[in-house]
Amino acid sequence: MTSVHHVVVVGAGFGGLEAVHRLAPAPVRITIVDRRNHHLFQPLLYQAATASLAPSEIAWPIRQLFRRRPDVTTLLASVEAVDWEARELRLGDGSALPYDTLVLATGARHAYFGHDAWEPFAPGLKTLEDATTIRARLLLAFEKAEREPDKKKQAALMTFAIVGAGPTGVELAGTIAELARATLPGDFRRIDTREARIVLIEAGPRVLPAFADDLSLYAKRSLEGLGVEVALGRTVSECSAEGVVFGGEPLAAATIIWAAPADRAGRLKVEPDLTVPGHPEIFAIGDAALVLRPDGRPVPGIAPAAKQEGVYVASVIAARLRGAPPPPPFRYKHAGDLATIGKRRAVIDFGWIKLRGAVAWWLWGFAHIYFLIGVRNRLSVALNWLWIYVRDQRSARLITGQGDVAETSRCSGLKSD
Ligand SMILES: Cc1cc2nc3c(=O)[nH]c(=O)nc-3n(C[C@H](O)[C@H](O)[C@H](O)COP(=O)(O)OP(=O)(O)OC[C@H]3O[C@@H](n4cnc5c(N)ncnc54)[C@H](O)[C@@H]3O)c2cc1C
Repeated sequence: MTSVHHVVVVGAGFGGLEAVHRLAPAPVRITIVDRRNHHLFQPLLYQAATASLAPSEIAWPIRQLFRRRPDVTTLLASVEAVDWEARELRLGDGSALPYDTLVLATGARHAYFGHDAWEPFAPGLKTLEDATTIRARLLLAFEKAEREPDKKKQAALMTFAIVGAGPTGVELAGTIAELARATLPGDFRRIDTREARIVLIEAGPRVLPAFADDLSLYAKRSLEGLGVEVALGRTVSECSAEGVVFGGEPLAAATIIWAAPADRAGRLKVEPDLTVPGHPEIFAIGDAALVLRPDGRPVPGIAPAAKQEGVYVASVIAARLRGAPPPPPFRYKHAGDLATIGKRRAVIDFGWIKLRGAVAWWLWGFAHIYFLIGVRNRLSVALNWLWIYVRDQRSARLITGQGDVAETSRCSGLKSD
């Protein structure tokens, strides 16, 4: 067994999973390493953060995904370093994992543009823990506002600032607005949740910059229709426990969410065959890689790009093992951009056709359900969306975690966990 070519894939995101799937017929043994035990469907993470979906509906145990693949070993471990010379990985527990071919698919983290100190006040959205943290902060803000006698403090508690108006920022802002205006009224006695302020802050001149002008204008107007305040061309210069300063103006906001794009710094610039320069045995794919198109523009950090790169590296590895000529250089094919604005509208930019409104929303919904893994999750997500669509009820409105929750529990004599 050990003489069989060993491919190690680090990261069970969209890129890593696709590479492992596509390597199925190749004469290799595969180890997939991830520091988390689950694959996460990040495009719906904002729904977990806004109590629309439960975390288990958008994540799957990696081990289960490969249970019918005896050629695949799943390792729950954090990769700390790559020893290029020895061709081994150093894992978090100090052990070494040798490889013949390495595929790095470790994703990217959000960029605070040199202001990492803002992270505790303005958490980003990348992991399930981020989603449950943001969900708890959103829901706790309303809980605290209900008990707050001071009107100024109450207003700050009911102000939600979202930094970055790409798809994630737009989707978060629209859903938080609907949560406040449609789901929560009636549940509170002292506050009117419809008075919550949702402020979407963007340094650039428009929302959804990757979309055509008319679609981003439509998205802005739709957000405003939902009661979101859209502040364009304003740079954030401070995030703190008091709130956010943007365009030189302070905004008292107890909840800030960082929805700025992922960090480009630290990405591995790769060759046209997605190998790391000087190391033909190491590939980097997905958000971890900086892949340039023939015109010099970088391939976007989105799921279809990571998947296409996963497919490509599997074909290169298989060709090498067959002794066949290498496939032509990687070419990214952009299918289009999608974003939702609340539960009834979306924008879709396929380049050759642009869609907006309810039709786009249904198409967005079907596309996401199609890309989810497993029948149970597809049914469960579809049912949840139907329920939200018809009744405005969000069933995952759970405050979990430590801090203020523990304080509340002590009062009632219960334990928080
Ligand atoms: C909130 C949000 C919304 C998004 N919405 C969309 C969307 O609507 N459409 C779209 O196409 N794209 C969207 N994206 C982008 C898309 O999710 C990414 O481009 C895609 O996940 C990249 O895939 P990947 O395989 O490169 O990395 P990831 O999917 O990020 O996976 C990386 C994996 O590597 C693991 N890992 C990282 N470091 C280590 C280590 N040192 N040791 C072990 N394991 C490690 C991580 O645990 C993770 O499982 C969104 C991203 C976010 C955060």
